[in-house]
Amino acid sequence: MSDTIAAIATAVGPGAISAVRLSGPDALAISDRVFRGRERPSESNHKSLLIGEIAGRDGQVIDQVLLLIMRSPNSYTGEDLVEITCHGGLVAPRLVLRRLVEEGARPADPGEFTKRAFLNGKMDLAQAEAVSELVQAKSEKALRAAVKHLKGELSYRIHEVEASLLDHLALIEANIDFPEDEIDGIDRPALGRELGGISSGLESLLSTHSRGRFLKDGIDAAIVGKPNVGKSSLFNSLVGEERVIVSEMPGTTRDVVDAAVPVDGLLLNIHDTAGVLEARDSVEVAAVERTRAALEESDIVLVVVDASQPLDEADADILGRSCGKRRMIVFNKIDLEDMEEHFGEDHEIRVSALKGWGIRGLLERLRYVSEDMVGDLADDMVTSERHALCLGEALEAVQRAGKTALDGAPIELIASDLRTALLSLGKITGSNASENLLDEIFSRFCIGK
Ligand code: GDP
Repeated sequence: MSDTIAAIATAVGPGAISAVRLSGPDALAISDRVFRGRERPSESNHKSLLIGEIAGRDGQVIDQVLLLIMRSPNSYTGEDLVEITCHGGLVAPRLVLRRLVEEGARPADPGEFTKRAFLNGKMDLAQAEAVSELVQAKSEKALRAAVKHLKGELSYRIHEVEASLLDHLALIEANIDFPEDEIDGIDRPALGRELGGISSGLESLLSTHSRGRFLKDGIDAAIVGKPNVGKSSLFNSLVGEERVIVSEMPGTTRDVVDAAVPVDGLLLNIHDTAGVLEARDSVEVAAVERTRAALEESDIVLVVVDASQPLDEADADILGRSCGKRRMIVFNKIDLEDMEEHFGEDHEIRVSALKGWGIRGLLERLRYVSEDMVGDLADDMVTSERHALCLGEALEAVQRAGKTALDGAPIELIASDLRTALLSLGKITGSNASENLLDEIFSRFCIGK
């Protein structure tokens, strides 16, 4: 029998209202002891909304509240659940929570409400994780992907694969148990083909992860270029506020500066890097490291060159290092240019960070490229690193089983690989999740979720 837990479910701080959650077998009894209103929570209807007050032990009113009562099993956690809406701010929610704890509730651990929802079969593990994904979504598109996961669309796809693996496993196991009954003799080429089909399905699901990552974490764009070409100025124009100190001394941005810019429902993480790729002194070593890392790890590279100067070796070096990447070459300082001489070609991105010329066009191009990178939102897009790892394990095992089916090795090996694949998929939906895995997942949630 579980105990009764309580937590503040909203962010603590100034705000109009706040919600305090109470879930477990004593939720109604505890509510009866702290709530004063026309109706007693334990005597109210199945789902009700009561208005009244939370009173302290001394009878003094702590706050005026609304009580939302949801009885087991028809609640988020599957237990008796009471949500107390009190006034926001730093004090009222805390005093309400303290009052609940005085009456026997235990302060909830991070993610404990959702963990209970999972344990009580209200949602599977992938859906429970989607709750956290939704709360942490940094862009509209990430939110839409999380909602699809919450609705169980990824889980549905995983269950389909599990079901067909189970069918094959059952047939193979029957053959292992009763090898003399050859009624269901294994047609190895057919089995190999079918497992190949399952592998392709898993592969296509896994291939959505690179795009899913963009949704979840945003797309990383690094601004690189030699010192003084206007990287920080461009960064500021793109970000729209003065976050970086723009200086006339070459190489003064000593580190990577980041900003997240929402671009049409997606998040673009823009990194302004130090303009050096070779360290001139010991202070620069770390900056150079970070610049190189930003250049290598970013999804898009904006190489800035000074349009008013001829390209030199330092520009060529940076252009060379970035040439394998998804790249945009930005000609900056076009305000200094002799327009007739340097009239740019159509595909060139020409801006003046100082005057703000061409910035909107550059953002538009970034939006275009980002959209292309994310593509259409499939119903079953994999955004979680954990899910991708489990899918990768399952894929390998099914591929091995398919190969064994074709090369004539013992069918016990096929059975064992199919079981491995099922275990890996079970870690996604939670049908095979150890207590440690659950603890690890839910500990990353916020308290009150
Ligand atoms: P970084 O070293 O590449 O980050 O370059 P900064 O952004 O610090 O800019 C270096 C110098 O170029 C500063 O004096 C800026 O004011 C100037 N600058 C940057 N962009 C432009 C531009 O579009 N036009 C002109 N005329 N000057 C610019």
